[in-house]
Amino acid sequence: MARNTSAAATSRLRALLALLRPDSLRWIGLGVLIAVSSALSLGGPLVVRRIVDLATAGTTAGKLSVLAVLFLVIAVATQLISVVVAWFATITAWRTTNQIRLDMARHVLGLDHEFHRRHTPGELIQRVDGDVTSVSDFLGRVVPKVVGAVLLVGGMLIVLAFVDWRLAIGMAVYVLLAAAVVARSRHRAVGESSDEMGSYARLYGGIEERLTAAEDLRANGAAAHAMGRFVEDSADTMDSAVRRERAFLRLWWGVQGSVAGGSVLTLIASAALVERGVITVGTAFLLFQYVLLLARPLEDVVQQLETVQKANGAMVRVIDLLAVEATIVDSGTVDPPHGPLSIELDGVTFDYGDGETVLSDVHISIASGRSVGIVGRTGSGKTTLSRLLLRLVDTSAGTVRLGGVPIGDIPLTDLRRRVALIPQEVELLAGSIRDNVTLFDPEPTDEAVRDALRLAGLEALVDAGIDRPLGAGGTGLSAGEAQLLALARVWLRDPDLVVLDEATARVDPRTEARIEAGVRQLMSGRTTVIVAHRLSTLRHVDEIIVMDHGRVVEHGDRSVLADLDGGRFHHLLELALDMDQDDTLGDAMTR
Ligand code: ATP
Ligand code: MG
Repeated sequence: MARNTSAAATSRLRALLALLRPDSLRWIGLGVLIAVSSALSLGGPLVVRRIVDLATAGTTAGKLSVLAVLFLVIAVATQLISVVVAWFATITAWRTTNQIRLDMARHVLGLDHEFHRRHTPGELIQRVDGDVTSVSDFLGRVVPKVVGAVLLVGGMLIVLAFVDWRLAIGMAVYVLLAAAVVARSRHRAVGESSDEMGSYARLYGGIEERLTAAEDLRANGAAAHAMGRFVEDSADTMDSAVRRERAFLRLWWGVQGSVAGGSVLTLIASAALVERGVITVGTAFLLFQYVLLLARPLEDVVQQLETVQKANGAMVRVIDLLAVEATIVDSGTVDPPHGPLSIELDGVTFDYGDGETVLSDVHISIASGRSVGIVGRTGSGKTTLSRLLLRLVDTSAGTVRLGGVPIGDIPLTDLRRRVALIPQEVELLAGSIRDNVTLFDPEPTDEAVRDALRLAGLEALVDAGIDRPLGAGGTGLSAGEAQLLALARVWLRDPDLVVLDEATARVDPRTEARIEAGVRQLMSGRTTVIVAHRLSTLRHVDEIIVMDHGRVVEHGDRSVLADLDGGRFHHLLELALDMDQDDTLGDAMTR
């Protein structure tokens, strides 16, 4: 157990040093400044000792004044350099932590579907911003003080050893005792602090989740339940805050006791030693001032303890998060042959890690350049299948091949260039229409963006001007229009395989016709997979796949299946004919 803990501490230290490495020169510079500052602090009392000893021996005022001026210079220099240390430390810490923040954001964005399913956006914001700020405070305020304290104590012991080795030993014992008192209560305080930060992350995560779902919650009358959970989370947070505060107070009293006790002991011991002639009055002054000097870093540590506590928990979480590895490994080297990509699924089984099989033993073979419509009840695994084709998730068993190459052997950049997904729910970003089409890529010309929008049937947006902003979250576009905008994204990228997961939301007939026309145009010259929720979208596809409970139950040419008596697709068409033409497939399937 002890070895485990120390191994964990060592690896944490190593990870922390790795984070500091990019700015190592600055950190070394800071270390030198701190060393100078500690040396000056130790020098002052030495001058005073000399003044006192000379004065008690009856030296001339002239010599004393020279020493007094020296003392003044040291005192002023100590103050100046402490300001420089604080300034330089803050700048260096911010540079380092901005880099960590950047690394974390990049890392989190690179993690896969499974990770993002388990962590809410609110929790990740707290990780990338809140936790990193705690680490920044720690590096900028605490580390310089701790290094300063260590140098101060070390220097003090050396100076005292030169004066009288017994004094050095006495001081060492005192320092060890005080450190032991602080270390004992610190351990507990750190644990409580980590708990507190954890409950804050849960609280924020919960609030974020409920705000996002506010409309659904209100519409379904679940607001009371949501409030209940909020109250529970808040109570939890308060509870852990109180426990942390209690542990913190205990520590504060420990430090105050050590400082006061140390001063009193030094005074008594010094008086006795001077009386016996073991040390001079000047040395007694030196000792007393050194004990007072020690009080400062100890009190600093207490004042910064909150920072230490927060940072300790935060650092663990930052390092843990950076250590999470993406399960989608980008190690491929094979680029599939040019042109439209063929698709093969060979015995594909998939679950989201919760033991529920979503796809089981799926075999599909689609020749290059074909267009395929996938239909099936809600929850039958259609969206999951499209995620597999983009390698947003990896199969649990079986292989997906694109252009004959196992998907894991294709470099991710090639895969992302050649395969495009139009998701069921298109996310629009705060930015102009142009930004939303190019996804902030400055390369495409304005004309190319306009062409893509026209091809997608969004002339209206072109007329309004592509630099017009879309609101955050994409207010101003309907679900259907958002899918048309996603079509424009695809036109701009010109991929070899397009996977369209049709919006389930109802779309007005005009938009529906535009989507249909856009998709039809998109089909030529590439392989197209369309997860369809409306019959109209399927009018022009070559093949149909019917899915049920994670299995392919029917696959064939559209024309053949449409006429196949007793076939599922045939049945669907009949049902849809009975119902209104604009009814969705989902409705038909549940009949
Ligand atoms: P719809 O027609 O409603 O879009 P679908 O056919 O696209 O449905 P999928 O989204 O693939 O269905 O879901 C298939 C099954 O996998 C469902 O039972 C669903 O609960 C589950 N599922 C989907 N996404 C996830 C996820 N991110 N994590 C865990 N389970 C999931
Ligand atoms: Mg779906």
